[in-house]
Amino acid sequence: MSESIIARCEAKGLRMTGQRRVIARVLQDSDDHPDVEELYARASALDAGISIATVYRTVKLFEEAGILERLEFGDGRARYEDAERDHHDHLIDMNSGEVIEFVDPEIEALQEKIAAKLGYELRGHRLELYGVPRKPDGAG
Ligand SMILES: [Zn+2]
Repeated sequence: MSESIIARCEAKGLRMTGQRRVIARVLQDSDDHPDVEELYARASALDAGISIATVYRTVKLFEEAGILERLEFGDGRARYEDAERDHHDHLIDMNSGEVIEFVDPEIEALQEKIAAKLGYELRGHRLELYGVPRKPDGAG
């Protein structure tokens, strides 16, 4: 288990006000990929004094500090997840917007191979798949 978001913020020397702590806690407790509006809804449920502008500034600050990873799933909205979460890729259901996390050892190995073939040592990658649910065999 990695250190908490608050601990990592403090280790980076970020000044952790009460509101930033609330937002950090919301992020810590999120196991999905919330956008700023969703984070604002969750944070303001804990502290009604938090404004959406504060949420924007705080996630930007955390992102710049390397604590959060910013994701975009094709709808132009920035989403965030803890940068320390174990590596995984994402499949986006284009109908429902649901985001499914997966890790595939074959894809991981293939990417290493491609990078090596191009003369590189792979340090990271990002993969997003977009799809719609398949109809069960024999249906419609
Ligand atoms: Zn994810």
